Amino acid sequence: MAAVQKVGIVGAGAAGLTAAILLADAGIEVEVLEKAAEPQTLGSGITLQGNALRILRHLGVWEQVEAKGYAFSTLGLRAPDPAGTVIAVLNDIRTGGDDLPATLGMYRPDLTAILRDRALAAGARITYGQAVTEIADDGGSVTVRTSDGGTSAYDLLIGADGLNSTVRKAIGIEEAPKPTGMGIWRAFVERPEEVVRTDLTYGGPCFIAGYCPTGPDTIYAYLVEKAQERNHEDGPKVMADLAAAYGGPWKDIRSNLDHGARINYTWFTSHLVEGPWNRGRTVIIGDAAHSCPPTVAQGAAMALEDGAVLAELLIAADHVTETLWKEFADRRSERATAVVRASVQLGQWMLDGVRDADVPGLMNSLSTMLKEPA
Ligand SMILES: Cc1cc2nc3c(=O)[nH]c(=O)nc-3n(C[C@H](O)[C@H](O)[C@H](O)COP(=O)(O)OP(=O)(O)OC[C@H]3O[C@@H](n4cnc5c(N)ncnc54)[C@H](O)[C@@H]3O)c2cc1C
Repeated sequence: MAAVQKVGIVGAGAAGLTAAILLADAGIEVEVLEKAAEPQTLGSGITLQGNALRILRHLGVWEQVEAKGYAFSTLGLRAPDPAGTVIAVLNDIRTGGDDLPATLGMYRPDLTAILRDRALAAGARITYGQAVTEIADDGGSVTVRTSDGGTSAYDLLIGADGLNSTVRKAIGIEEAPKPTGMGIWRAFVERPEEVVRTDLTYGGPCFIAGYCPTGPDTIYAYLVEKAQERNHEDGPKVMADLAAAYGGPWKDIRSNLDHGARINYTWFTSHLVEGPWNRGRTVIIGDAAHSCPPTVAQGAAMALEDGAVLAELLIAADHVTETLWKEFADRRSERATAVVRASVQLGQWMLDGVRDADVPGLMNSLSTMLKEPA
């Protein structure tokens, strides 16, 4: 029999829904509490690397993801010149194995919807508009209080509640995301025909100018700059001004910014909870436990892997023991730490203007590690 019969999951993002699907598939009662009033319907794009796709295949949703998204296995590098000269097209390492593409871009709400539908079909209960506010662990079960004043008790509680995790604070973990010094503008726009993969331009007025196709008709384009106070409403003008220095598809992207593009600005942050991610019968996963700037686009992949590994261990064990938590830490800490450190390092090299940094070396060693299943 599995170690737990009734699991509460806080947060219906990639980490929480992954754990929900696998635990519910194994016949465990699962309740997901999500503070948002309703499922996410608006958003930007997301870049999913092969190791993320491998987990999505394990969840049985790869065909749906492939149909909605845009897969590719090369990475373009362009010069920061008016022509957007292509300097190199690199074959990306297929971190999910050779039978999956290296990368797939998709619209975030589509990914969430696919995972949500799969979790519901597996038998998980998902309640929206339920923010968890307090937690009490009596050693045998965990009771949560929600914003409506209600309480529920579980054999185990998974805090998959993202960057500003309430669960993390409630179990006394002090680490929290800190700005890394960079800010990113993201725009979800029509796909110029020329955009068939991610192309990155380093330098010019921004640290990075890039885009990723998210489907046959759409892309998300991004510009990474020094973190500063910005207003989302200024997005179309600021992005158009910054993008004027970049050529190739950026000419079309700029003209599409005016056509009601969804534009958003946010700062990069990072944190890492060292040591075990659980306190008693409450455990945090995904962005609640670690976050990093998306310089290697691995945040969601780590969230998916955390959820899958935790579910696997809970299903296989007879009891919730220190051995189980040690195994979870052994399987996840080193990998998540490597991703956070590499992601932060890449950004820091750009902030410091280091020109001879060994970016290929760092990327190769990280990809080689990620190619091994979690
Ligand atoms: C600008 C930017 C770009 C990124 N781009 C990429 C990318 O291209 N590729 C990639 O792999 N990663 C990317 N990431 C990282 C990625 O978005 C995250 O790592 C991933 O979404 C984490 O998933 P999660 O399930 O842990 O958390 P989340 O997706 O944040 O989900 C947490 C959920 O918990 C809910 N919640 C919060 N508090 C409570 C509460 N008290 N009670 C109930 N519910 C609660 C939230 O509403 C939310 O639905 C990016 C991040 C940023 C900031």
